[in-house]
Order: sequence, then structure tokens, then C-alpha cells
Amino acid sequence: MKHVAILGSTGSIGTQALDVVKAHPDRFALYGVSAHSREDAFLALVQAERPRRAVFSRPINAAVPGVAFSFGEEALCDLAADPQVDIVVLAVSGIAALMPLLAALRAGKRVAIANKESLVCGGDLVREALRQGGGELLPVDSEQSAIFQCLQNGRREEVEKLILTASGGPFFQRKREELKDITPAQAVKHPTWSMGRKISLDSATLMNKGLEVMEAARLFGFSGDEIDVLIHPQSLIHSMVAYRDGTVMANLSRADMRLPIQYAMTYPERVPSPARPLKLYEQPSLTFIRPDMDRFPALKMAYFCLKAGGGCPVVYNGANERAAELFFAGELGFLEIEESVAYALDGFVNRPMTGLDDILAADGEARRLVDAFQRTRSFT
Ligand code: NDP
Ligand code: MG
Repeated sequence: MKHVAILGSTGSIGTQALDVVKAHPDRFALYGVSAHSREDAFLALVQAERPRRAVFSRPINAAVPGVAFSFGEEALCDLAADPQVDIVVLAVSGIAALMPLLAALRAGKRVAIANKESLVCGGDLVREALRQGGGELLPVDSEQSAIFQCLQNGRREEVEKLILTASGGPFFQRKREELKDITPAQAVKHPTWSMGRKISLDSATLMNKGLEVMEAARLFGFSGDEIDVLIHPQSLIHSMVAYRDGTVMANLSRADMRLPIQYAMTYPERVPSPARPLKLYEQPSLTFIRPDMDRFPALKMAYFCLKAGGGCPVVYNGANERAAELFFAGELGFLEIEESVAYALDGFVNRPMTGLDDILAADGEARRLVDAFQRTRSFT
């Protein structure tokens, strides 16, 4: 029996992870949960599931028999490293996942990681924590899970390319000038996946794919030159690995995140899952389009950041997180998201990231640069 802690339990990935835990009462027991702002949803979940520990970001009045409540970031890290926990599902969004990720890895946990921002920003720190604690990092993000599975068919030196597929989001067929007045409601309507609001927006700007290019590089040790992106609007192939003999391994399934979540939890075993099986004869044809880098600056900037290294990936992420907040608040336009990220990258003097303090400083700087961009826009 494995004890599971779901960090970010009220979110899209968090609730699907709970489904997986409940689908396998013989394998998994829910030990701990966390949430950040949705107090009512959190308390309803704790009441219904009765985990042993529950962590909320700020102090709240909560009393549920048998449940130990604690509050704040330190408590979140403490849950991630709790000796009773075997598997941490990291479904917190944003760079806030970095501290609990490091805590879990240093304590030697298996981390089923959905959060990509922490991998992009954490860089060497994550690798070091993994080495130190002897834990395991198993990808949940569907593209990375696909690549992880396809890589099991050969050795590192036999791989030619990682091919990340992208749905292209809701607007990839529109011209850039048609996107100026896109509203938050339009931007989060994803064509193939149902996800949290921030990642849905990131899919529409292609920032999500940019983050995933860097995430793949971090997880599997490949350079930007070895990672391609291919638009595949049906989201049936979740990503591929091209080998040097000309073979391409692909991973296909329905667009249901419970599959990669479960695989990260049961690996190396495969067990029946709550996801419906894929019937290929019911599917329309599969199509692929090479992305135009000029049309999608978010991708171009991600490759630039990966190559530049240092604080650039942190700035890319921090600027995008802040720009997303401002877009949802109606203070930035849709196209201004990528413009403000470019502005932040331009204003940032790149330097090596030697530890957590450097990362947090670069993240803060990126956010301030986006705010400055927004202020100059609001004058014109
Ligand atoms: P949601 O916004 O739906 O959920 C985020 C969860 O994290 C919520 O439980 C939220 O709590 C909690 N949270 C938010 N901010 C903080 C914070 N500062 N500190 C602690 N907890 C916090 O996001 P998703 O589930 O969509 O995504 C989660 C992560 O997984 C992201 O990094 C995303 O990129 C990645 N991912 C998601 C996929 C998906 O299908 N949704 C697919 C692949 C990757 P509360 O609700 O109480 O505010
Ligand atoms: Mg993904």
C-alpha cells in the first residue's frame, strides 16, 4: 500500500489524481492534500476523503476529526517530505511548486510531477536534490510521459530527436492580427483538453509548449537542437521519439490526464485505468503541421532561453506567470502577453543561477519588468 500526498488537490490535475487513488484502493491510500485559495472546495474535499494531513496556504478555521491541519509554505514542504508519504503528486501550479518539489526529492520520494514551471526554473537544483535524496521524478505532463515511455525503446545515443506534439490551442489557424482582442473566456477554451485556467491560456499563447521544450530538456537531458515541436490538432499522439535508424516511436491514447498520472504512480507497472480505451477506427485522420516560429514568438523565445541558460528560463516563466495574471485581470491584451515576456527577457541581464536565492531574484525581476511594460502601455 502506497501513501499518497496530492499537492494542489483542488485543481484540475489534483482532482484527477484523486480519481486515480480512489480507483485503486488496494494500492493507494490518500495520506495528505493541499490547496491554496479555494477554501470551500478544500474543506469539502477534506471532509469527504478524510486524509491524515491537510495543508492550506493561509490559516483558516478548520476542524475535521482525524485530520491534522497546518498552514503555509513550510507546512507544504513538510507534507511533501513526511516520512509516511511514498508518492507526492505535484499538481500545484506555477513556481510555487519549486520548494515542495525540492523538499520531496531531498526526502527521497517518488514525485509524480505535473508542474512544469518548477522544472524549468529549478534546473540544476532539482537534479542535485534528486541525486542527494535518491528519489524519483516521474513525468505527468502528457508530452513528457509520452517521451518517457518512448525512450524506453532504445539507448540515449540511439535517439535522434524528441518530437513534442502541440494541439496548437484554439487560435493556431488565425493570423496574429486577429488575436488582439481575444478575451480571457475565449483564451481558456481549449479544443482538446479540459485543464486549469493558467495552463489553458498558456496553450493558446503557445507559452505552454515553450515551457515544455525546456521541461523536456531538463527531464531527459537533451539540447534545444534535439527537440522539435509539431502541431497535431487531434491530440491523440502525445509525443514521439525519433531514433537514428529512422524509427519513430509514438505514444497514443485518449486525451485523459488520469492515464499519465496513474502511470507515474504505478511505474514500472501498467494496471487498468479509469480512462476509456482508445478506438482508433473511431478517430478522424491524424494531421501534423510544422509550427512557424515567427507566428509563435513564445516558441522562439523558449528555444532562445534554453540555449542562453542562466536566468533566462526563470525570466521566461516568471514574466509569463505575471503576464497571465494581468491578462486575467483585464490589464494586458492577449498579444501583450508574449510582448511583455520579450520585454522582460530584453531587460534582464543574464547571469548564472547558483542557488534558490538567485532563482527567486530573477523571478521577481521578471515580474517587475512585466509590470513596467504594463505601465508604459497604460499611458498610450
Ligand atoms: P489548477 O489551477 O487547476 O490547480 C492548481 C492547484 O494548485 C490548486 O489546487 C491550487 O489551489 C494550487 N495552488 C495554486 N497556487 C498555489 C500556490 N501559490 N501555492 C500552493 N498551491 C497553489 O491547475 P492545473 O491542475 O491545471 O495545473 C497544475 C500544474 O500541472 C501546472 O503546473 C500545469 O502546468 C500542470 N499541468 C496541467 C495539466 C492539466 O491537464 N490541467 C496538464 C499538464 C500539466 P486553489 O485551487 O485552492 O487555489
Ligand atoms: Mg502538456
